Amino acid sequence: MTQHLFTDDFKPAPYWWEGAPLDPGAGAAPLPAEADVVVIGAGYTGLQAALQTARTGLSTLVLDAQDLGWGCSSRNGGQISTSIKPSYHELAKRFGPDRAARILAEGRASLDYIARFVADEGIDCSFQVVGRFHGMHKPRLYEAYARQIANPAPGPDTGAFMVPKSEQSTEIATEVYHGGIVYPHFASLDPGRYHRGLLAAVRAAGAAAVGHCGVSEIAREGTGFCLTCAQGRVRAGRVILATNGYSGPLSPWHRRRVIPIGSYIIATEPLAPGLMDRLIPKDRILSDTRKLVYYYRASPDRQRILFGGRVSLNETDPRKSGPHLYAEMLRIFPQLASIRISHSWSGTVGYSFDKLMHCGQDNGLFYAMGYCGSGVGMASYLGMRIGQQAAGLAEGATAFDDLPFASMPLYRGNPWFLAPSIAVYRIRDRLGI
Ligand SMILES: Cc1cc2nc3c(=O)[nH]c(=O)nc-3n(C[C@H](O)[C@H](O)[C@H](O)COP(=O)(O)OP(=O)(O)OC[C@H]3O[C@@H](n4cnc5c(N)ncnc54)[C@H](O)[C@@H]3O)c2cc1C
Repeated sequence: MTQHLFTDDFKPAPYWWEGAPLDPGAGAAPLPAEADVVVIGAGYTGLQAALQTARTGLSTLVLDAQDLGWGCSSRNGGQISTSIKPSYHELAKRFGPDRAARILAEGRASLDYIARFVADEGIDCSFQVVGRFHGMHKPRLYEAYARQIANPAPGPDTGAFMVPKSEQSTEIATEVYHGGIVYPHFASLDPGRYHRGLLAAVRAAGAAAVGHCGVSEIAREGTGFCLTCAQGRVRAGRVILATNGYSGPLSPWHRRRVIPIGSYIIATEPLAPGLMDRLIPKDRILSDTRKLVYYYRASPDRQRILFGGRVSLNETDPRKSGPHLYAEMLRIFPQLASIRISHSWSGTVGYSFDKLMHCGQDNGLFYAMGYCGSGVGMASYLGMRIGQQAAGLAEGATAFDDLPFASMPLYRGNPWFLAPSIAVYRIRDRLGI
């Protein structure tokens, strides 16, 4: 029925893999018998951690169950925000005003870190501070946001400003929003090329990265660990768990704390020349105020739209999610009615019950995870910090250390509550509450 929406060369795979094909991580066989540090998971968290430990002179081995970067780190939308979901007031109520301010400051620190990192390492990944336009899907939300920025809560200055509906076309060519807010410091990059550059830096630092080598057991051995993995056993002085939304049965404690949630994206075929300059004239990243968030942007070459969000109650196939995302994209941009989908894909983000990212140590295992869909900057930053902690460096300390990492009774890693929650969010989005 919807076949006509797809291009003839349609791929149910990330658009980013065209410019940065995944690295299978072969060639390190046989596995070393031991390493000072073993990192499990080769996404941004794991690679940033490995870079720190390798650069401090510790022998470092990164293992991934799939091709290196196969998880969220080569599937995301490439939007970088300051990433902290709870407000200052929610955080202050839980942790006190000082800790709340320090947690919010980490959001900005993560953005600054990734900007500096890609520049210092010379990673060609189209990193740009473009700002985000966040559209208001109900008129009263425009007033509410305007009041908020007129009376800002304590914490870092976001520099945010309102754009009324009358001036909206300077940001986006749509009629669906009732104005919006611009966060000028937010950024974008090409996630695949960023991952590829990061992997090259890790290898240049002397670490080995091995793909298709899933870890099935972590056992204590003396002062360290013995890992059982697909290619044999490895002894590790220290272990960093960097599996985020793909955390399986390996560590039940973490699995009980991370909620795996699918997120879906489509890429369109190239648009007619000049059209992108009318649709998204300032090249900003875009999203809106709905609880079921849609996020979208131009591709780095400004030829295609990349449009993401959550379209179904339960997880589904990218061939099915594609047409739903397409319909939502047309609601915002009816100008794209004749454009087809060239790529459609999904990935599994890791949420936490308190909407905060978490890092630290449990039972001797270092970990960083739970970025709640905002991990491009934050997984990079906390990966870097947890690597410093594993290397025993004082600068690894963060405002997230030792925060309670809550689970929920009866939750074992299967989010049975997700479909009902999404149904409620849909209703709230329709009513604007
Ligand atoms: C569709 C989509 C869109 C997104 N858009 C954005 C965005 O625009 N902005 C943003 O900030 N964030 C976004 N995110 C989230 C962001 O991509 C993630 O938070 C971030 O990449 C997490 O990195 P990570 O290294 O912690 O995990 P991942 O990159 O997911 O890596 C985890 C790795 O662990 C491996 N693994 C799991 N178990 C084992 C095991 N037992 N043994 C060995 N290896 C194992 C997996 O194979 C996987 O490769 C998006 C995510 C998705 C899916």
